[in-house]
Amino acid sequence: MHTNRRIFMAGGAASALGACTTTPRPQSAAPQSPPVPVEPFRANRQNLMKVTVCTRPFRPAGPRVEVERFGDKTVVHNYGHGGSGWSLSWGCAVEAAALARSQGHSDFAVLGGGIIGLTSAIRLLETGAKVTLYAEHFPSETRSARATGVWSPSSRIALGNEAPDGFAARWEQWARQGHARHLDMVGLADDPVEFIPQYILRGGAMENSPSTRNFLHLDRTLRDLNPSWRNADPLRDPFPGKARRTGPVMTFNITRYFERLARQFHLKGGRMVRRVFAERSQALALTEPVILNCMGYGAKAIWDAADLVPVRGQINWLLPQANARYAMYYDGVSVVSRRDGIVVQYVGANEDWGYGDANETPDPGETDRALAIVRSAYE
Ligand SMILES: Cc1cc2nc3c(=O)[nH]c(=O)nc-3n(C[C@H](O)[C@H](O)[C@H](O)COP(=O)(O)OP(=O)(O)OC[C@H]3O[C@@H](n4cnc5c(N)ncnc54)[C@H](O)[C@@H]3O)c2cc1C
Repeated sequence: MHTNRRIFMAGGAASALGACTTTPRPQSAAPQSPPVPVEPFRANRQNLMKVTVCTRPFRPAGPRVEVERFGDKTVVHNYGHGGSGWSLSWGCAVEAAALARSQGHSDFAVLGGGIIGLTSAIRLLETGAKVTLYAEHFPSETRSARATGVWSPSSRIALGNEAPDGFAARWEQWARQGHARHLDMVGLADDPVEFIPQYILRGGAMENSPSTRNFLHLDRTLRDLNPSWRNADPLRDPFPGKARRTGPVMTFNITRYFERLARQFHLKGGRMVRRVFAERSQALALTEPVILNCMGYGAKAIWDAADLVPVRGQINWLLPQANARYAMYYDGVSVVSRRDGIVVQYVGANEDWGYGDANETPDPGETDRALAIVRSAYE
């Protein structure tokens, strides 16, 4: 994107120089330099590293961050973050840790080693607590490790008719706290978080197909966090004729982000124990008086979270391309070029895609469709 801007400016300067020696051009003359195209993603099976599938833990009423008592144990729930878990993690961790701390104990069990469990545990450690994290899967093995890795704080976050009063304000607080904490990771040596340009392309069969469900879209209140988004300019942006909007997107290089968080967790004195809980009584038998339930979709079985809905998402991983560092959306497909791979996801026409589907087996037909759409974006 910077390259294009430089070329556009050079074109303008050349016109001005010419005006000293020849007949001046009209003020409205367009610069001659065409936009520089981006390097296309190599969207074919030869470059496919792997295909992963995961389930978003969607709760129509929004994430559950609240206290529940079971006899002499206190459980602080922190689950149900839909397609926004990475984005909101730190904000929800602050609230969950404060609830846990308010119980008057200093010894905590965190159940779950995904992004929600790990950030909750780190937040508790930062308050001087003693924390043991119990999980069947450690961070890099969790569903969280299979996410797209972008700032998407209101993606499948709640349904408008199910979210309680005051939800939007609470969500905004989670989002702003989360955003600030992610920003602390920008510029670190291993780039756990960075910004890349994103292009939203028009065209294709998927345009203007609204969801049948009333998903809440709250991003508007956070516009100040993304001030440089603008309409695409055919004279300086790639994909002329197709690009509709462009701007920087916050990207999580999840492999590196998780590594860094796991290091932080251990440096701050946390202990990680691999354990599978087959039923709730096993969790309640832990010695810690306060338990944080950060089990994601796993909460459905253990904590009777009947309202959790699985929302399937399949990711096709292309080999990384050092010279194609951008993201794009075109015709129902999202692509994000991360340091640990290019993440290609068929997202369908709207947020109904994958709703109620807990099947985590890869679908080769979906992979081929997604790759073909990516190739067609450059035609
Ligand atoms: C395809 C896809 C793309 C996504 N992209 C983004 C994105 O770009 N940005 C964003 O913000 N969000 C994104 N999300 C959403 C995000 O990934 C989730 O909201 C988040 O991963 C939920 O994290 P979690 O820690 O609650 O759950 P998980 O990652 O599932 O972790 C649950 C933990 O609990 C443990 N556990 C569960 N049950 C048991 C049990 N019985 N015994 C012991 N341990 C147990 C598991 O082993 C694991 O450690 C995406 C989701 C999907 C599916």
